[in-house]
Amino acid sequence: MRLVLMGPPGAGKGTQAKFIADHFKIPAISTGDIFRANVSQGTPLGQEAQRYMDAGEYVPDEVTNKMVRNRIDEPDAAPGFLLDGYPRTLAQVEELDGMIKFTGHALDAVVCLTADDDVLVSRLLQRAQLEGRADDTEDVIRRRQEVYADQTAPLIDVYRDRGILVEVDGLGEVDDVTQRIFEALDQIPES
Ligand code: ADP
Repeated sequence: MRLVLMGPPGAGKGTQAKFIADHFKIPAISTGDIFRANVSQGTPLGQEAQRYMDAGEYVPDEVTNKMVRNRIDEPDAAPGFLLDGYPRTLAQVEELDGMIKFTGHALDAVVCLTADDDVLVSRLLQRAQLEGRADDTEDVIRRRQEVYADQTAPLIDVYRDRGILVEVDGLGEVDDVTQRIFEALDQIPES
């Protein structure tokens, strides 16, 4: 199973990614988590990524694409994977197409979690207090929402046109959202 999980900042991608990945026994690959791990370890990749993340901007495509390509090449991702937070730009969509085509497979589905912007701002501010994420101040959150609307929302139409988009309401209890995702994915034939 090869899946992509999309949704605006704070929609609950990280939480749901773990449940989906466990269910299908595939690794959850979160570009945000990989960037944060590199930042905390002070690697050259982390140093490069940090200034973009702190400003609510996307890390440049070349950097992100290379990182995802390396991760997808790991043996645990050979049977399938769930991408959380990638692709986020049209250039990343193309790059991912190439990576998957190379393996002779196809993307099975793109799950997009939907949620209201105001609810998301309050969720993110709460999370900022709990986790102390530098990219979760109110100004940065609003910038991330703008960047999402501008650069990532157009991907929804691309995947809808391909017939692999699954839109799921991301509001409500975590378990309910998980159930909605599983019900939607159960309808999908695996390629
Ligand atoms: P979210 O709160 O939206 O789930 P993430 O944890 O996925 O955020 O990502 C945090 C930050 O990492 C992003 O704001 C961005 O700077 C960077 N990032 C993550 N994924 C990508 C990507 N695919 N392309 C560019 N930058 C990315």
